[in-house]
Amino acid sequence: MLTDCFINGERIASDSGAEFSVRDPATDQEIANVPLLTKHQVESAITAASEAWPAWRSMTAAERGELIRALSSLMKRDAERLALLMTREQGKPLAEARGEIAYATAFLDWSAEEGKRIYGETIPASSPDKRILVLRQPVGVTAIITPWNFPSAMITRKLGPALACGCTTVIKPAEDTPLSALAIGALAAEAGIPPGVVNIVTGEPEMIGDVFTTDDRVRKLSFTGSTEVGRILMRKASNNLLRLSMELGGHAPFIVFEDADLDRAVASAMGSKFRNGGQTCICANRFYVHDSVHDEFVARFSRAMSELRVGIGTEAGVDVGPLINDAAVEKVEQHVQDAASHGATIATGGSRLRLNGHADRFFAPTLIDGMTGEMLCRREETFGPVAPIARFSTEDEAIALANDTEYGLAAYFFTRDASRLMRVAEALEYGIVGANDAVPSTAQAPFGGMKHSGFGREGGKYAMDEYLETKFVSWVL
Ligand code: NAP
Repeated sequence: MLTDCFINGERIASDSGAEFSVRDPATDQEIANVPLLTKHQVESAITAASEAWPAWRSMTAAERGELIRALSSLMKRDAERLALLMTREQGKPLAEARGEIAYATAFLDWSAEEGKRIYGETIPASSPDKRILVLRQPVGVTAIITPWNFPSAMITRKLGPALACGCTTVIKPAEDTPLSALAIGALAAEAGIPPGVVNIVTGEPEMIGDVFTTDDRVRKLSFTGSTEVGRILMRKASNNLLRLSMELGGHAPFIVFEDADLDRAVASAMGSKFRNGGQTCICANRFYVHDSVHDEFVARFSRAMSELRVGIGTEAGVDVGPLINDAAVEKVEQHVQDAASHGATIATGGSRLRLNGHADRFFAPTLIDGMTGEMLCRREETFGPVAPIARFSTEDEAIALANDTEYGLAAYFFTRDASRLMRVAEALEYGIVGANDAVPSTAQAPFGGMKHSGFGREGGKYAMDEYLETKFVSWVL
């Protein structure tokens, strides 16, 4: 297992010798120690990216594409090793970790091709001796900060388009899950990506954030994580007027109309809510079910939940793993207790599941019926296996409830009425809308939020815009 950082093609330990430990969330056992880099070392990663940039941007898109695809191929070759590593540091069931490696490589493959289609433009000029050219050029050194919930995919969603556009990168993964990132760094070198183009740094987050936002050589920061940290970074980035992409928290509503296909709605609710134990930014976080189908939906959803197997991610047949750390379990517990104290019914689950010999981080899939406006689960991202449900009676009411939040990442609704489908899709104030679909994310589509869920898009041709400058050349013949 690789535990070194990666700067300028070299494996790097901390100059100070300081390290932090990475622990398996299921057992709390230490898996590895990784470097707490010094400020000087983080700056040296920016130097490496800065010096590698002229040669990287000068390569043809096809040449860069080949190297990006080579990285993807190596990740596919090592998929089983990478998946196991991810399950150990993050906790998700092995089948989901395998799925994440496939999803992560799809972004590399797609970007490798799309880099060949970064077109400029000519615009008819206002006088016969003039020409107007529009060039698209790489932004430059790109800093990347990622969260722990998708340790590989959150990196490749940024790395793929950044590299394809001709940018070089310095990546800081989350301290809970740095090992997947370090493994990707080593594979990037094996793929033949030149030294300095992909650098991976680990260490104290505030210090790294400070360096990323104050070093003039960094031209772009792409961040995925909480809204709270996104705000801090935005404030810090203002001095340098740093280009930003902000993929922040979500609080997704899931609406079931009276004409929904209930089988599909329940299966989709299960898929959306319990993937990664409910620790995904787009997972359904609150459910609104029409009065006329409420009881039936609750009964079916509750039955399906009780069949889920909670356990350690490496065991066959496990559907829900541990939560990432103690703070995450405490937050989930607080949301459930708060709902109960405000009069909600805990129809299924409601407490930790204590598994012999394992850490106390497993939470029973939980259905809260009777969610109301004052409850924490109604207002905040729970990030756990908890499904709070409220009733509604009209389409307008459902839309108003869904939009009544500062977040705007993903929203879902289920209906068989085509007119309603378009009406509701247009009315929801969210960057991603799943209409009869609870797994919308895919490499070719634009992923990102509105309102306090941030700005910028990952995936598809839209991701390229995040890493390109638009230059206007006015030419007199
Ligand atoms: P987080 O606490 O905001 O951390 C995200 C990253 O920021 C980590 O690498 C973290 O480092 C780093 N960080 C923390 N404080 C920092 C600071 N002051 N300066 C610079 N970097 C700092 O979020 P998380 O708990 O890892 O992830 C969960 C959140 O991410 C949820 O809100 C979820 O909705 C959101 N998310 C959004 C998307 C999306 O696409 N919109 C996707 C996935 C997740 P350390 O780990 O070292 O503290």
